[in-house]
Amino acid sequence: RFITFEGGEGAGKSTQLARLADRLMESGYGILTTREPGGSPGAEAIRHVLLSGAAKPLGTAAEAILFGAARADHVASAIEPALASGKWVLCDRFIDSTRVYQGALGEVDPRLIRALERVSVGAIRPDLTLVLDVPAELGLARAQDRSGAQGRSGAADRFESEDMTFHRTLREAYRQLAEREPNRCILIDASRKADEVAAAIWQAVTSRLIV
Ligand code: C5P
Repeated sequence: RFITFEGGEGAGKSTQLARLADRLMESGYGILTTREPGGSPGAEAIRHVLLSGAAKPLGTAAEAILFGAARADHVASAIEPALASGKWVLCDRFIDSTRVYQGALGEVDPRLIRALERVSVGAIRPDLTLVLDVPAELGLARAQDRSGAQGRSGAADRFESEDMTFHRTLREAYRQLAEREPNRCILIDASRKADEVAAAIWQAVTSRLIV
């Protein structure tokens, strides 16, 4: 089983992913938790180039290609082997992040986005994608709290430093994406308390997949 978590800044993806992983492990499943960009040594190296902003001057199409290269390595060296061994894979961001950030927001040609998907993931698709939805203001406020708490203020990555219009458009793009693929995607209201969001996610997982 392959489950991906998607959403904008401060949606709570990594917290909720960890909670779902714990719950599935309690049920006795083998789990791989991973994230993008990154998740394998080669992809983590590319993550550094992307998030430092070093690739920004190259433009959004080149960034999309780098995300694709990272994903190809991540899929081949981590995700595919885990799925083949019968593990559940929980991944923080996947192809939908590229569709939304580089495609909808970065205006990269959809043909390039599709070609990159073919090359980087082949036939692998998430069985379930949880799209964590929060208003842009709330997401950004949470992301800022987190940066402050971790002493990361001033170290916002290339994408976190975008303006409010960017984050509103991002949310809208994710909502449309979830609507277009209702068999794979479930929109989760992530503005609620963490416990309530976790309960909604568990309900979504157990209703869509055999647990
Ligand atoms: O998940 P996390 O917020 O740590 O993601 C790292 C950053 O990379 C985010 O700021 C996200 O906006 C950005 N990103 C992106 N395009 C992707 C994946 C992530 O711009 N395809």
